[in-house]
Amino acid sequence: MLHLRDGLGRTITYLRVSLTDRCNLKCRYCVPAAQCEYFTPEGELLSLEEIHRVIQIFAALGISRVRFTGGEPLLRKGSVGLMERIISMPGIQEVTLTTNGTLLADFSGELRRAGVTRVNVSLDSLNRRVYRSITGRDELYSVLNGIESARREGLVVKLNVVIIKGQNHEEMLDFLNFSRETGIRVRFIELVETGSSWSEKGYMSEKEMLKFLKCVTHVAYLRSQGVENVYSSSRPGVEFGIIPARTRGFCGECNRIRLTSSGKLRLCLYSPLGPDIKKMLREGKSDAEIAAALRRSLFSSLRETRQKNRIFLRQKA
Ligand code: SAM
Repeated sequence: MLHLRDGLGRTITYLRVSLTDRCNLKCRYCVPAAQCEYFTPEGELLSLEEIHRVIQIFAALGISRVRFTGGEPLLRKGSVGLMERIISMPGIQEVTLTTNGTLLADFSGELRRAGVTRVNVSLDSLNRRVYRSITGRDELYSVLNGIESARREGLVVKLNVVIIKGQNHEEMLDFLNFSRETGIRVRFIELVETGSSWSEKGYMSEKEMLKFLKCVTHVAYLRSQGVENVYSSSRPGVEFGIIPARTRGFCGECNRIRLTSSGKLRLCLYSPLGPDIKKMLREGKSDAEIAAALRRSLFSSLRETRQKNRIFLRQKA
């Protein structure tokens, strides 16, 4: 089996695929308001066949885990059928999904039958008013229904909660209680700068989250696991994660690359640079040519990002 390595010697095994940039929520921290109304026209999106082909090329290069995301991935027609095909692809060990959960009640059965076993649901508040204020839609109960329905189908659910100071940070303990009651693991995520009005003033670092939590419960660091730091809280007795997405505490362990819905490969979360896969596909390049271009760009492009990463890696060491 081939291994896909980047210029820092990290082995890349994980691909996140955005199926669409459309979303049925308008989370105020996610994209700047002006971009909320612009969606990529259908013909500029990678087709499901093109996505299948790209994943096949990646699987032959050692990618074994694929996560579908968006936009809202369940809005894309045919998404579950595509997941089913990817699950049976040689080399692929796991296919998962990150969703806002609003359509999960409709799709859980289909997902389970397709072979999906785990979903991450993004849920930033357990309070109807706060949820509506963050997402622009009154969908809290649809999401809670969706989570319940996914669990009934036997899917393992994890919650992603982006913490926004002054909006939902005081709900951290409520989420831990929810986790205790339901057995659903919760991960708190640092808000990343996106240019939206909330992403700057609402930022709360991992350190600040811990300081807040330590005022209300006992918290102990357990371990670092992939992109998250795992902690335990004694009251309620649960484990939870914090993803230091802005302080970039995880660059050293990063093993992932991203494919955008319009076919650009992003080799680093913090850089928009990366090869244009759609262009290669539509110019009629062969699988071998595309694979060679991917390997080359992972090794040698992104000089600037790699230099930045080196700084983060050094800071971590
Ligand atoms: N629609 C799906 C969902 O809501 O899970 C998938 C796409 S959404 C962009 C993926 C994840 O990115 C969600 O958990 C969302 O909360 C998170 N996210 C979006 N903007 C963010 C930001 N500025 N900082 C941190 N996380 C963000």
